[in-house]
Amino acid sequence: MTDIQARPATAGEIDESFAEVAALLSGQDFWSTRAGDGIRSIVLTDGPHGVRRQGADADHLGLNQSLPATCFPPGAGIASSWDPSLMREVGEALGLEARALGVDVLLGPAINIKRSPLGGRTFEYLSEDPHLTGALAVEYVRGVQSTGVGTSVKHFAVNNQETDRMRASAEVDARTLREIYLPAFERVVTEASPTSVMSAYNAINGVFSSENHWLLTELLREEWGFDGLVVSDWGAIKDRVDALAAGLDLEMPGSGDAGTEAILQAVRDGRLDRSVVEASVERLRSLADRTASSGGAPTLDLDAHHALARRAAAASIVLLRNQDETLPLRAGQRVAVVGELAVAPQYQGGGSSHVNPTRVDLPLDELRIALGDENVVYAAGYSRAASDDNEALLAEACAATASADVAVVFVGLYEEDQSEGFDREHIDLPPAHLALIDAVSDAAKKTVVVLSNGGVVTLEPWHDRVDAIVEGWALGQAVGSALTDVLTGAVNPSGRLAETIPLALADTPSFLNFPGEQEVVRYGEGVFVGYRYYTSVGRTVRYPFGHGLSYTTFSVEALEVEADGSDAAIAHVTVRNTGSVTGSEVVQLYVAPAPSAVRRPARELGAFTKVTLEPGAATTVSLPLERRAFAHWDARGARWWVDPGMYRVELGRSANDIVAVRDLALAGDVERPPALSLESTVKEWFGHAIVGPVLMQSMMANATAEQQAAAEANANALKMVDSMPMGQFARFPGVEIPEEALEQLIALSVSVALAEAAA
Ligand code: BGC
Repeated sequence: MTDIQARPATAGEIDESFAEVAALLSGQDFWSTRAGDGIRSIVLTDGPHGVRRQGADADHLGLNQSLPATCFPPGAGIASSWDPSLMREVGEALGLEARALGVDVLLGPAINIKRSPLGGRTFEYLSEDPHLTGALAVEYVRGVQSTGVGTSVKHFAVNNQETDRMRASAEVDARTLREIYLPAFERVVTEASPTSVMSAYNAINGVFSSENHWLLTELLREEWGFDGLVVSDWGAIKDRVDALAAGLDLEMPGSGDAGTEAILQAVRDGRLDRSVVEASVERLRSLADRTASSGGAPTLDLDAHHALARRAAAASIVLLRNQDETLPLRAGQRVAVVGELAVAPQYQGGGSSHVNPTRVDLPLDELRIALGDENVVYAAGYSRAASDDNEALLAEACAATASADVAVVFVGLYEEDQSEGFDREHIDLPPAHLALIDAVSDAAKKTVVVLSNGGVVTLEPWHDRVDAIVEGWALGQAVGSALTDVLTGAVNPSGRLAETIPLALADTPSFLNFPGEQEVVRYGEGVFVGYRYYTSVGRTVRYPFGHGLSYTTFSVEALEVEADGSDAAIAHVTVRNTGSVTGSEVVQLYVAPAPSAVRRPARELGAFTKVTLEPGAATTVSLPLERRAFAHWDARGARWWVDPGMYRVELGRSANDIVAVRDLALAGDVERPPALSLESTVKEWFGHAIVGPVLMQSMMANATAEQQAAAEANANALKMVDSMPMGQFARFPGVEIPEEALEQLIALSVSVALAEAAA
C-alpha cells in the first residue's frame, strides 16, 4: 500500500462533496469522464493515426464501428518520412477531426521503441531510435494541440511487447532506460507540453507503471516538470489507491464506484491524504480548461485531409531496391498488377488504433487511372478466402505476367498478423505471397515487389530475384494513390527506414530475450537496440536504418562541424541534387563516441533534416548537435555524462553508409577525484594525484632493497592486484600497511576532494 503519511480523516471530512470530487477520478464510461465540481465531462478517444470515435455501443477492442475519420499513415509508415513538419500537419488535421467529432483528448502519439520486429504494435510505433521518435512525437503533439485538442503520450513506459502485457515486468537497467526507452517521452514532455500521459500496462523492474511512484512522480513530474494529467491505459490499474499515490490521476475506463470507494476508504483509514485526491482533481480541471473548445465544431474539409493523407503516405514509402532503374514505371509500359492486396489493401493494423476510413484508394484502380486501363492487367495471384484454389490463381498470375513488360507484385501482412494484444512469432510473409513472388519473378521480364507490412518482414530468400522493392509499411487510407504516385514517378520516393530490416529474426538483438518467460522480460541487449547493435558488432543486415533510394542522386559537398564550447556542436552540410528530377534527401548525422568507461554503440543518430532540391540545386543546412547527442547516462552518478575526448561526427546515407566524417574534440565532464575509502581499489589509491605518490613513497621507504628490486621487475604482479579493494590488500602478508596510515591518507583525500569542490 501507499507509503504516504496521512492523518486519518474524521467522519466529517468524508462528506458528500469530497466523495463527489473523488468520483471524478474514475471515468464515467469507456470514453468520457464524469462532470462535477465545475469540471465538464471530457471525451478521450484513440488515436494515434486517426480519430476512432465510437457511438453509444462503445467497446475499446474496436469490434464496434467508429465514426468515419481520415486514416493517416500509422506510426510505422509516417516515421519513415523522417519529416517532423509533415507530422505536424497531420497532427493539425487530426486535431480538427477530433474537435469536429466531439473529442477533447486524442490518445496518441504512441512512442514506445521498436525493440523487436515481433512486437504486435510495431505498426503503431515510430522507430527503433529514440531521437527520431522524439522529434516526430514533439510535432505530433504540437500539431494536435494547436487545435485546442489534448494528447495523451503513450504508453509510459517500456511497453515494447504485447505478450503478457498486463503482467510482465520489463527488467531494464538504468542506463538503457535513460538512453533508449525514456528519451522520446522526456523530449515530448519538456518540449511540447502534452496535456496528458498514459501509463503503460506492464511493470518496470517489478513495479507496475500505473503504480510506479518513481516513474509517474519523481521522473515525470519532478525531474521533467510535467504538469498535465496522468491517465491509466484502459484497465491498467491494479490497485487504485497505490496508483493515485504514485501519481496516476485518472482511471479509465470507469470502474463504477469501485475505484472511488477504494480511494475514500484509504482516506478514512489514513493511508491516503485527501490533498492527493484534490491535486489530481485540479489536474483534471486544468485538462478540461486547456481543451475547452472555443467556438463551435470546425467545418472539415475531408478532401483536403485525404490529400494530406496521400502526401504523407507517399513521403513515407521507402524505395529499398531499384536495379537498372526499373522504377518509375514508364508511359506505355504494359504492367501486370498481381496480388490480392492490390484490390484489398492493408493499410493499418488491428486493435484500438483501428480507424474507420472516410474512403480507401485501391492500388489497382489508381494504377489504371495513372497508366491507362489498356496498359494494366490484373490477377489476384492468391486469395485470403480458404475456399479459393491458390494454385490456379498462381497460374493465372504467371500468364498475366508473361505478356507484360513489368510485373508489380503486391504482398504483405494482414491485419490479423499485426495487432495490439499479441506479438508475431516470425517475420515471414504468408506462404502464398512467397509462392507468388517466386513464380512471377521467374515468369516476368521485370519484377517489382510492393510490400504492405506494419512490422518488418524478411526479404529472404527472394530479394535478389526481383528488380525493385517498394516498402509501403502501413500507409493509411490513401495507400493506393500514394503507392501509385511513387511507382509512376509522380512523387519521387524520399522515405528512409526508421527501423532496420535484418536478414533473419535470429539476428535481431533482442532475439534471445523476447518476449521473456514467466512474466519477466530481460532487456539483456541493453542500449544495443536496432542499428546500435548491428553497427557495433558488424552484423550484416538486409537494409540498414536510414536507408532509402530516390529517383535522383545527391552529393554531399561539405561537412563542417564546430564545437560550441559547452559540449554541443553545430554541423553544416551542403547537399546538391545531382540527378535530373526534384527529390528529397534526409541528411543524417551520427555521433561515434570518444573512449568511455562504459560500452557505447558504434554510432548513434544525433541530428537529421529533410531537404527538397530541384535538379542541380544545392543547399547548406545547419544542424545542432546537442550535448545529449554526445552524452551517456552514468548510472553510478545518476547523471548525463560527456566523456572528454575525441568524437566523430559522421554524415550517413544510412547507419551503414557513412559518406563523410569529422573529428570533434570535446572538453567533456571531468571527474573530480573522489575521496578514497578502504573500498577504493589499489589502482585508485596509487592513481590518486596526491595520495598515490605519498603511499608509494612510504611503501618503498619500508621495503628492503630486494623487495624494491622485485617490485620494479614485476610490474605485472601489481597489475594483478589493481582491482583489489585497499582494505583487503593492505592486510596481505608482506604488504601490511598500518590502519592508522590508511586513515591518515583517507583524511588527506577527503581534504583534497573538498578543496576541489570549493574551487
Ligand atoms: C491500448 C491504448 C488505447 C486504449 C483505449 C488500450 O488497450 O493499449 O493504446 O489508447 O486501449 O482504446
